Amino acid sequence: MPEGKIVKALSGFYYVLDDNKMIQCRGRGVFRKNKITPLVGDEVVFQAENDLEGYIMEVKTRKNELIRPPIANVDQAILVFSAVEPDFSTVLLDRFLVLVEFNRIEPLICITKMDLTNDEQQRKIKIYAEQYTTAGYKVILTSSETEAGVELLSPHVNNKISVFAGQSGVGKSSLLNVLRPDLELKTNDISSHLGRGKHTTRHVELIQIGNGLIADTPGFSSLEFTNIEAEDLTSCFPEIQRASENCKFRACLHGTEPKCGVKKEVESGQIPAYRYEHYLNFLQEIKDRKPRY
Ligand code: GDP
Ligand code: ZN
Repeated sequence: MPEGKIVKALSGFYYVLDDNKMIQCRGRGVFRKNKITPLVGDEVVFQAENDLEGYIMEVKTRKNELIRPPIANVDQAILVFSAVEPDFSTVLLDRFLVLVEFNRIEPLICITKMDLTNDEQQRKIKIYAEQYTTAGYKVILTSSETEAGVELLSPHVNNKISVFAGQSGVGKSSLLNVLRPDLELKTNDISSHLGRGKHTTRHVELIQIGNGLIADTPGFSSLEFTNIEAEDLTSCFPEIQRASENCKFRACLHGTEPKCGVKKEVESGQIPAYRYEHYLNFLQEIKDRKPRY
């Protein structure tokens, strides 16, 4: 039986992409007994009735599952941050990075609106880009206005399912518009595709960009560290994770503990002070969290 990927779910139909063919499917088969609802992003086995219609017979095991928007098998989160308007915020970026890392999704940092920066702002952004690259992240600088840098995104979206994440107004829809001008998505509008108001429930759709798929709805809208424990935080900062190999104590949380490999690298300047500060702030936030029961 043929296999494909669900790229859209609407009114009880699942739209399955098999190579470049789109088959409109209904659910049928054993997965329904297991109370599995097919999701956008699911790899499925389907039975074709004809060239256009079929039935989903099986949903393959998921690698992961996002709740909002509901998507399975997300490979990558493209963290969209504007250089200006709104100003680039490392604390907000670090918060998104922790959530993405915790969900074992690969992050890609995309800094937009570079065309609006003056020399001083550009210099600062380039330093941040270098620091995040040193930490272990991929960083891309773009402008949707001049389209400069947008082509650098393409190789990173091939053969993956990506979701955008980032504050409203940073330029997510504009970026998608440069990548797929034929879709003519609205920008800077409350009802626009990516910046849509919170109350409208709407289906999610995966949009084809080259050989990859990008969700038309941004992910990680809740920025709470709800399921993250204090000891999980080290692994959400790659450079802190690396430096922690030199901590004397295995359970070191890099606070007041002596002989801490992380603090050593912060003192020597290898780890930027703001990254460590955000780590400590997030750690405190997690420790202060009220128990849920
Ligand atoms: P979203 O809420 O993240 O989807 O942001 P939008 O794509 O709607 O962009 C918000 C505003 O910023 C719009 O007025 C866009 O025209 C503008 N904008 C987005 N990207 C750029 C860019 O790279 N350069 C400039 N100059 N403006 C941009
Ligand atoms: Zn330590």
